[in-house]
Amino acid sequence: MRGQIDFSKRSDGRPVVVAGPCSAETEAQVLGIAEQLPSDITSIFRAGLWKPRTRPGAFEGVGAKGFGWLNAVQQEYGLPVATEVANADHVEQCLKHGIDALWIGARSTVNPFTVQEIADAVRGTGIAVMVKNPVNPDIDLWIGALERIIEAGSSNVAAVHRGFSTHEKGKFRNQPMWNIPIELKRRMPDLPIICDPSHICGNRPLLTDVSQKAIDLNMDGLMLETHLDPANAWSDADQQVTPNELREILNALIWRNPNSVDGEVKAKLEELRTVIDGLDHDILDRLVERLCITRQIGEYKKEHNITILQYRRWNEILDNRKAYLEGKQLSPRFLKKFLEAIHEESIHQQTLVMNTGELEKE
Ligand code: PEP
Ligand code: MN
Repeated sequence: MRGQIDFSKRSDGRPVVVAGPCSAETEAQVLGIAEQLPSDITSIFRAGLWKPRTRPGAFEGVGAKGFGWLNAVQQEYGLPVATEVANADHVEQCLKHGIDALWIGARSTVNPFTVQEIADAVRGTGIAVMVKNPVNPDIDLWIGALERIIEAGSSNVAAVHRGFSTHEKGKFRNQPMWNIPIELKRRMPDLPIICDPSHICGNRPLLTDVSQKAIDLNMDGLMLETHLDPANAWSDADQQVTPNELREILNALIWRNPNSVDGEVKAKLEELRTVIDGLDHDILDRLVERLCITRQIGEYKKEHNITILQYRRWNEILDNRKAYLEGKQLSPRFLKKFLEAIHEESIHQQTLVMNTGELEKE
């Protein structure tokens, strides 16, 4: 029997917690984890039946054999269950076996044919669907997949932020690129977003920090892979935690309110925001002023037949502004991005002035 899934934040302000193993391995493993999950905290039990693996020859999931185990989780522990689907046949089997929620994996979200096939298969069923971000940082591809599922009549849809694969190999398995889920929330404000720190981190030590960041950004839920013996898990062994560790992570988090109900707090925030509004206007006015000068320089360069881009000057600007900010609270990374954006616009404006390319005209 399919339970009612609610992806929005719980009424006490706590996020939805999707917990359970990366893959269903054996009946004892699935039921053992379900038994030990903190029942006061867990909202949905997850376990992959079909596993997309990067290299052939790895464990590819138990498939349909695991439905009985997930049904036992529903019956014995009263938890709704979710699994990954990658084609219409998977969806049909899940529907037949009363699975409560589906998720579309990152490797499937990249393919509009696959997503459309899944959308057509869920049409009219009302089953809850989570759409993971595509592996590449393309917000439109993510939104497109969400739209296909919503257009198929699914009203119970959530996005899952699991990080993005890039050529940079940093401390994360998948770069969080927080600006992408933030932009998704701006463009689809009513859509719940669940953060999946397990697949972002790819390891255990970073899970708490990434979960906290998701909470601070007002995300609606957390998906955390949980296993009784993480080190010996058949997939994603480095990133899973035990049910006890899951409880520790969740207990360590500081829950925040999206809005304070306290009048005094609200008034103070309002006051600070008014100052920010004023400062932003000042910054924008100064930028416009700066660009006017840039255009004058462009005119002058045109008169004297001088190139727009001058590397020496550009390097000087970077070094000089960095030195100017020494000891102040702005990171060099931000300064560089900020100056690059200004420089790009300056070149664009000067190109317009010099009239050297129709291509530059917007
Ligand atoms: C998973 O949730 O186990 C999984 C395969 O995730 P992703 O599609 O995010 O890699
Ligand atoms: Mn996994």
